[in-house]
Amino acid sequence: MDVKNFGRSMRWKLVLIYCLLVFIAMTIIGVFIINQLEAYYIDSTKNNLTNTVKEGTLITSLKSYKNLSQHQQEIQSNIDAWKKTLQEDIFVVDDNYMIVASTNVNQGQSAIDVLDSKIILTALDGQVSQSQGNIMSQNSTIPVMNMAFPIERGDIISGVIYIRADMSSIYENITYSKLIFVKAMAIGLVITVLLGVFIARSITTPINDVTEKAEKMAKGDFSQEVSVKSNDEIGRLAEMFNLLRTQLDATLSEISSEKNKMETILQHMGDGLIAVNLSGQIIHANPAALNMLRTTAAELNLRSYDSLIQELSEELTLEQLMKKCTEGDLSGIFEKGGFTYATRYDWFKDESGNDMGIILLLQDITQRQKLENIQMDFVANVSHELKTPLTTIKSYTETLLDGCVEDAETVSNFLEIINAEADRMNRLVKDLLQLSRLDNNQEILNRKETNLVSLIKAAVKKVEITANNKKQHLNCLFNLEERIPVDMDKDRIEQVILNILSNAIKYTKEGGRIDIDVLKLGKNAVVTVTDNGIGIPVTEQSRVFERFFRVDKARSRDLGGTGLGLAISKQIVEAHQGTIKLESKDGKGTKVTIALPLSLKKGVRNIE
Ligand code: ADP
Repeated sequence: MDVKNFGRSMRWKLVLIYCLLVFIAMTIIGVFIINQLEAYYIDSTKNNLTNTVKEGTLITSLKSYKNLSQHQQEIQSNIDAWKKTLQEDIFVVDDNYMIVASTNVNQGQSAIDVLDSKIILTALDGQVSQSQGNIMSQNSTIPVMNMAFPIERGDIISGVIYIRADMSSIYENITYSKLIFVKAMAIGLVITVLLGVFIARSITTPINDVTEKAEKMAKGDFSQEVSVKSNDEIGRLAEMFNLLRTQLDATLSEISSEKNKMETILQHMGDGLIAVNLSGQIIHANPAALNMLRTTAAELNLRSYDSLIQELSEELTLEQLMKKCTEGDLSGIFEKGGFTYATRYDWFKDESGNDMGIILLLQDITQRQKLENIQMDFVANVSHELKTPLTTIKSYTETLLDGCVEDAETVSNFLEIINAEADRMNRLVKDLLQLSRLDNNQEILNRKETNLVSLIKAAVKKVEITANNKKQHLNCLFNLEERIPVDMDKDRIEQVILNILSNAIKYTKEGGRIDIDVLKLGKNAVVTVTDNGIGIPVTEQSRVFERFFRVDKARSRDLGGTGLGLAISKQIVEAHQGTIKLESKDGKGTKVTIALPLSLKKGVRNIE
């Protein structure tokens, strides 16, 4: 037994209470029985004495004496005869309180000195009276019962018969009964303790079981199941515990899975999320936010929110955010280090609705911003490109309508210019429409296995005249008889090759050289068009595939370019799962490389 827990243990409290109750009950019963027993003994002694006196002949003979002291001899011999059959001491007292005769040796003595005077006086008044007391005999105290009966001679009371009964044996009996009772109580208590321990254990064991398992549950072990052994309150407690455990387990699993989901979302979301309390301490920052703040989780505890955010933006300090939130201005945009960030912020509150801090969302919108800029540039470029030929057409038609030009040759020149500008607009609109279709995946590619070598040969033939006009040399470096099958939309790929070839011709001076090659390289067919033309400055090279980008706008326009050729080519090649790249040296020449996947079909016939 754990001594420390004795006072606190319910088992021992139950045993103690149980024993105390039994002890109190037994004591009450014991005291009651002993008292009743004592009263019964006293009563029966009293009745015995009364019967002895009333039914005996002594009182009748005493009644016949007018003066008791005159018949002392007779009365004494009468008493002596009685003494043989009775245990009790008998005294005959006359109305002068003198002992006339007795079974003892007190004759002639005053009854007041020797006997209980109170009951003698009461008896002399005509009433039977009784008392209890002790007398000394050979240095020991003997409990006695005294009874005094009046001797009535008509209306006159001539004396008293005083009987003294020895109560020792009765009190011995009572003492013995008490001893038996104490023994019974001791045995009863031992049995009670044993029974108490058993009962208390049967009550506390399941409770202890529940407590132990609840302790384990508090430490996070939800595998505990309490066995339900009974149908009573404890059984129901065990049942409820098991129900609680299952529900708690389910609820905690749900909460933890929700928490995990939340953490995973916060962990992997691309936007930075920062929660800062009112004292300027960062409570939470997800990895994206740490990245944007150029800090680590460990450093968060060492630095304040303001010191970290100021490196990104001066306008996002806690004070400023609190002010903006109060004014209802809950979002913003700022730029830093070539990145554009969108911000959203608001108060976060506790359950009672009190402001706890600010939650800030940082979104890297650099890419989106770039796209928006491209879109805006594109619209501006389209408008500009359409406006230029329109202005020319308008000014020439107005001049013609004015009727100022009469010279037929000039009129014809003007009309040619108008026609050329209209053609340019037409080309531009066609290119724009094609780009839009490619952007929206609406350009339907009619892909068939085609021999790329024949396609390039045909394209070279088509631009030969233009090249010849500029006295340029077009060199086909590839084997003209080779077959390089590519799964392609013939017209679109021809459009790409023609665009690259015409660019090479356009941007190469007279007498220049253009090499065309096509070969199989791994799983690809690779086409290269290399010229020794004007080339492109390094700084501009990365932009040549952008829409409307032209190194020299005026020159391109003069040469009939729209600035969309390479952008369209890139879209078409990529739609064929291919790549296109441009390498150039300013003033030295340009090399464009197109890679297209080779056709995988085997044993193909009728290659076009
Ligand atoms: P354009 O219609 O102006 O030719 P492209 O998209 O075909 O438009 O080409 C974009 C720009 O790239 C051209 O304006 C030109 O400045 C540059 N460029 C393309 N090909 C060559 C080349 N072979 N040599 C030099 N510059 C070139």
